[in-house]
Amino acid sequence: KDDDESLSPNKKLDTGEGHSQKVATHYNALQECGLVERNRSRIVHMRNFNNWLKSLLIGEILDVVRRDRREVCVLDLGCGKGGDLLKWRKGRISRLVCADIAGVSVEQCQQRYTDMKRRSHPNERIFTAEFITADCSRELLSEKLSDPELQFDVCSCQFVYHYSFESQQQADTMLRNACERLRPGGFFIGTTPDAYELVKRVEQSDSNSFGNEVYRVTFQKKGDYSLFGCQYDFNLEGVVNVPEFLVYFPLFVEMAKKYNMRLVYKKTFQQFFDEKIKDEGNKTLMQRMQALEQYPADDRGRLVCDSVKEYEHAERRAQRPGVSLPLGTLSKSEWEATSIYLVFVFEKMA
Ligand code: SAM
Repeated sequence: KDDDESLSPNKKLDTGEGHSQKVATHYNALQECGLVERNRSRIVHMRNFNNWLKSLLIGEILDVVRRDRREVCVLDLGCGKGGDLLKWRKGRISRLVCADIAGVSVEQCQQRYTDMKRRSHPNERIFTAEFITADCSRELLSEKLSDPELQFDVCSCQFVYHYSFESQQQADTMLRNACERLRPGGFFIGTTPDAYELVKRVEQSDSNSFGNEVYRVTFQKKGDYSLFGCQYDFNLEGVVNVPEFLVYFPLFVEMAKKYNMRLVYKKTFQQFFDEKIKDEGNKTLMQRMQALEQYPADDRGRLVCDSVKEYEHAERRAQRPGVSLPLGTLSKSEWEATSIYLVFVFEKMA
């Protein structure tokens, strides 16, 4: 039995890099698929919802930062294939640094940026950008930046930070990367699974696993949740199936103090939705995002829009004007999956 266990995939991959390589390989292998294929997915509304939520979070933080900054510099930590590039464009930032452990994703992100710049109007001043492939839980970004003195106004870490909670040192290194080059008054924003929700659900389950037809979370064992390295497997309709780690939020808040960071906002996705949906403008954006995903418009099949205006434009090109769908199109299963996440905002103190 012992021999069998030593051959388990996790142990075989343990080369001192923990699970990092597994995560990089997984994300590198993910294919960029067109809108048509994405629309067939059972999690299309969940993707839209997550995108809507990030658009609001990023938009609001940039509004705050812009009150006393003309030039805004952003670090997108765990940028993936650049799903937030249009949000940075819409937010009229000046400079962006994109970093991710998955080299193929970083290349795609860079390509997307180049395409975006090439297709933009000559009068539009698109931000300058830099792309770094690095394990941000083990390597220091400040040593890889073209300008080591660069200061960020915002670090955005969307659906990424939980990968670093494999060990205290990794969680600290990622936090250091997120915060050490933030200027005082700058923000560290992000989204991550809510450990409280995960543990609650697994404890309510008959086994060490819970989920539905769109997602599944499987803990290695139940009843014992270590502060670091508490691993679970997360499977989302073939999108993500890699080890993740519980982020016990009060610990995260304590660790952030080392970098002079103060928690200013924390909401579960449910709370965030309830708060933001009261605003008519936010509601319209959500409806448009849903409408466009239902009726693909982009000629290259992969446009991701972030503002009502962009959606209207894309709708016109798709010759399907006026498409609007009622809210609430997330299935119950999708909502169960997305409601394990939370939103956080830390501010750097002077
Ligand atoms: N932030 C993007 C978004 O919201 O679309 C991508 C999110 S994706 C769920 C998680 C990303 O985290 C992947 O691109 C993955 O490669 C990256 N990641 C995971 N561990 C990382 C690490 N140690 N250093 C840098 N990036 C990491």
